[in-house]
Amino acid sequence: MPTIFGRCIIFCNPARNRKDFPSDRLQTMIRAASGLPAEPVEVLSVVPWVMSPKVARRYRIDRTFLVGDAAARLSPAGGMGLNTGLQSAHNLAWKLACVINGQAGDSLLDTYQEERRDAALWAMENTNRNANEIFSVVASAMENNWDKVRDLIAQSRRRGAGLGQDLGIAYSRGALLPDGSEPMPVDDPINDYKPSARPGSRAPHLWIERHGRKISTLDLLGTQFVFLTGKDCSPAELEKSASAAGACPIVFLQNGRDFAADGFEELYGIFSGGAVLVRPDGYVGARWTEPSPNFTEQFQSAFALILRNTLQRK
Ligand SMILES: Cc1cc2nc3c(=O)[nH]c(=O)nc-3n(C[C@H](O)[C@H](O)[C@H](O)COP(=O)(O)OP(=O)(O)OC[C@H]3O[C@@H](n4cnc5c(N)ncnc54)[C@H](O)[C@@H]3O)c2cc1C
Repeated sequence: MPTIFGRCIIFCNPARNRKDFPSDRLQTMIRAASGLPAEPVEVLSVVPWVMSPKVARRYRIDRTFLVGDAAARLSPAGGMGLNTGLQSAHNLAWKLACVINGQAGDSLLDTYQEERRDAALWAMENTNRNANEIFSVVASAMENNWDKVRDLIAQSRRRGAGLGQDLGIAYSRGALLPDGSEPMPVDDPINDYKPSARPGSRAPHLWIERHGRKISTLDLLGTQFVFLTGKDCSPAELEKSASAAGACPIVFLQNGRDFAADGFEELYGIFSGGAVLVRPDGYVGARWTEPSPNFTEQFQSAFALILRNTLQRK
């Protein structure tokens, strides 16, 4: 049998400490839990750990920013701790770059907390609920009440994190311009995810064709602002005015001209003359469902608002 490295989490009474778990006792417990009673077990390290979910009150103090577990330490039930930390780092990175490069106002950095703290509180609420479900299952198993264990597991749809929790995290405020639309209703916000390009949502995936290759809309995003337009919205005028404004670089891409995608307008909730401005972290900053006569000014003021940049309008 090959050597298997693993981590075994043993729930114990808070009154117990490391001395209550000598190696031979742990070996017996691991053999029993693994279903491999005859295999030799070597204990490499033992780390006592107390679950203590917490979200920081402030994510920014002047030039100091909290990310990762320093900002939000979550219950591991659901596997959301590192995910939440990475999402926050992703959220902060482009904002820092824009401010350091003189492309955005300093208050753009305040939107980091506005967006990410609410998301972390929601993740904490869900992962705490997951943890409580697991504790109930463990407690019932320790009482040998297997009917109750089966019932509790059957009632739990979550068993960790779902697509809604992973992809559906949306911001209601921050570096974005709401378009007055309501969020997509879902039965279960943790498990269910309905793709939406409502400002504050993650720009949805759609297979598209570009330069003869099949790629995802997500492959267009990630390094700078991207302006995606429907088939009948020509971005030529905007391209000129955006380069004249001299803020963050923007890539302008029109369906039918720069990429080909059936169902793009429908998925992104726009008419063929509409457009969506996507931020470097892949979140929608603004959306225009249809063209208006003063579209260029609207675009410039939306961009200035997102970047908290008064210079833009000069
Ligand atoms: C049992 C368990 C299971 C988990 N499972 C998952 C999962 O499935 N999915 C998931 O997404 N997340 C999971 N997590 C959460 C995930 O591990 C954390 O969210 C993630 O590691 C946090 O990363 P971080 O860089 O913010 O902090 P850390 O990983 O804690 O890194 C901080 C580093 O800073 C060092 N450090 C501390 N103080 C100092 C100092 N004064 N000077 C220098 N260095 C210092 C520490 O030694 C450490 O190396 C789990 C956590 C636990 C405990």
